[in-house]
Amino acid sequence: MIIAIDGPAAAGKGTLARRLAEHFGLALLDTGLLYRAVGMNMVRGGADPNDPVLAEAAAKALTPKDLEAEDLRTDAAAAAASRVSAVPGVRAQLLEFQRNFAADPPGGAKGTVLDGRDIGTVVCPDADAKLFITATVEVRAERRFKELRERGLDAIHGRVLADMEERDARDRDRAVSPLEPAEDAYQLDTSDLDADQVFAAALGFIRSGNGQVS
Ligand code: C5P
Repeated sequence: MIIAIDGPAAAGKGTLARRLAEHFGLALLDTGLLYRAVGMNMVRGGADPNDPVLAEAAAKALTPKDLEAEDLRTDAAAAAASRVSAVPGVRAQLLEFQRNFAADPPGGAKGTVLDGRDIGTVVCPDADAKLFITATVEVRAERRFKELRERGLDAIHGRVLADMEERDARDRDRAVSPLEPAEDAYQLDTSDLDADQVFAAALGFIRSGNGQVS
């Protein structure tokens, strides 16, 4: 049983993925973490995340332990992830990791919720339910800005918005696995919704039989 959740940064994918995984008793894979870990392994080693040969080697060398690094939620990690994720060789390496996880979820779970950018289109095109979660870039930047402030980090609103727009453009315009909804995805704009409303809407879709999870 596989639920695929895609969409741009700060649209609400992570929270929804966590809640659906808990509700259905499924394993959870935040696939952004894989790209973040590859990017940060390079940055920490002094390599340029734009270098395709080094990026592919870093993806090949990735271990599950790397996903536990403390700095993966930082903006530096997001920026590095956004660069390595445009390298086709990196995507090919991580595709295998993601498919293995979905085919054989840890802890004996009966399935997996994966969230990312290309889960419904490329990683798990046969997922039982596909959701594409969006919100306006202004709303997403505001959410990220508040989150950074709550974590006690210095943030400038205009800078957060500009970074978000830049990352959106890179994700949408890359040649391999660009960010786009699968044809059969349920699309949900969360700009005016809270987390409970998003969860209720997603559950409604999944239970409607369009997704086959019960
Ligand atoms: O979701 P998150 O913000 O952690 O993702 C970080 C970056 O990793 C994204 O901006 C995107 O470039 C990349 N990514 C991807 N495909 C995925 C997940 C993340 O290209 N499935």
